[in-house]
Amino acid sequence: MVIKPKVRGFVCVTAHPAGCAAHVQEWIAHVKSQPPLKGGPKKVLVIGSSTGYGLASRVTAAFGSGAATLGVFFERPSEEGRPATPGWYNTIAVTAAARSAGLYAKNINGDAFSDEIKRQTLDLIRTDLGQIDLVIYSLASPRRTHPKTGGVHKSVLKPVGQSYTNKTVDTDKGLVSTITIEPANEQEIADTVTVMGGEDWEMWMQALADAKLLAPGAQSIAYSYIGPQVTWAIYKNGTIGLAKNDLERAAKAIDSSLKANGGGRAFISVNKALVTQASSAIPVVPLYISILYKLMKAKGTHEGCIEQIQRLFATQVYSGKPIQFDEAGRVRLDDWEMRPEIQNAVTEIWPQVTTENLTSLTDIAGYRSEFMKLFGFGLPGINYEAEVEPHLLML
Ligand code: NAD
Repeated sequence: MVIKPKVRGFVCVTAHPAGCAAHVQEWIAHVKSQPPLKGGPKKVLVIGSSTGYGLASRVTAAFGSGAATLGVFFERPSEEGRPATPGWYNTIAVTAAARSAGLYAKNINGDAFSDEIKRQTLDLIRTDLGQIDLVIYSLASPRRTHPKTGGVHKSVLKPVGQSYTNKTVDTDKGLVSTITIEPANEQEIADTVTVMGGEDWEMWMQALADAKLLAPGAQSIAYSYIGPQVTWAIYKNGTIGLAKNDLERAAKAIDSSLKANGGGRAFISVNKALVTQASSAIPVVPLYISILYKLMKAKGTHEGCIEQIQRLFATQVYSGKPIQFDEAGRVRLDDWEMRPEIQNAVTEIWPQVTTENLTSLTDIAGYRSEFMKLFGFGLPGINYEAEVEPHLLML
């Protein structure tokens, strides 16, 4: 099959297996180009391991620290005439690379919110790994079926309290327009917290603790975002921000129980805004990311998922020094993004951006190429005219 990109709004419905593998190889190469982590993790569970920050966490643990990794994710295999989702191909690539480096790597594809997938994961840890020392929680999902009630909850990306009007960009067509988003109702707020808040992370950690599968001193990290004032109505103060507040609540509760388990800890790392499948779905944010990329690239401070997570592990979690927490107990990997010189420039550029000057005032080209890379397109050295086998079996 010759696989070409098919972009529909903020998703690409095709993915290129060789391109995804090349993308994963770039990330592995980055981690290998850095000094190995001293005292890094050895047995790692990554929940949401197939794309974005979760995949970067898995690559960093495996190739920076020689860790055994168990990945949990929800991806669709190929079907007749249709390639698999990118996370499927990414996982095959990272698993093959880890195993050829002599590392343990296994995968569980299914709904991480369900009791059944938790049970399968616990069984595999018990049989293969004994106890784990790091749990990364990196799910980004539009819905959750609650394991206790069976209710289906859908998350929404909306402001809270009042409607919000701002600029946004159709990244595919390059059109800048004004968007008004109506505020979420109480049910939508509650549902978003149920999907993207901390309850499921707590359920995972409780299940692992009850089964005695957490090594003494085990740590757990979940990821969040804050961002600049221009996006606060839709992010920090919106439905997703309320869910992230609940994730912070969960971090404190999990932290207390891990501290009692041989001095472990749990915390939130606030990461940089980056092009991922999750972030491309948020209105306004892609325009902000396009401006941010231009400014950070010019300053030489631009990072992608892999640079962020490698920095998190190397300079914070496994640096041999105490972790630097902010006043709310979070690690701030968004520190370079939030520097005043960057944010002041964003504030200056934001009102000026139009469809006509989008390419000169922003890095929309960089946004688009990062977006295509998420699906395995635009990678150097890949012949996109060649036939490629889309039906790869999960390893
Ligand atoms: P992503 O879409 O790239 O990855 C999401 C992962 O979750 C994938 O592995 C997917 O398979 C998995 N997943 C989704 N639903 C699942 C389910 N029901 N069961 C099992 N697995 C499931 O997202 P991302 O941008 O890497 O986001 C990960 C975390 O990082 C989120 O908490 C997000 O809020 C946070 N974050 C993202 C950004 C950003 O700009 N992208 C910035 C800061 C923090």
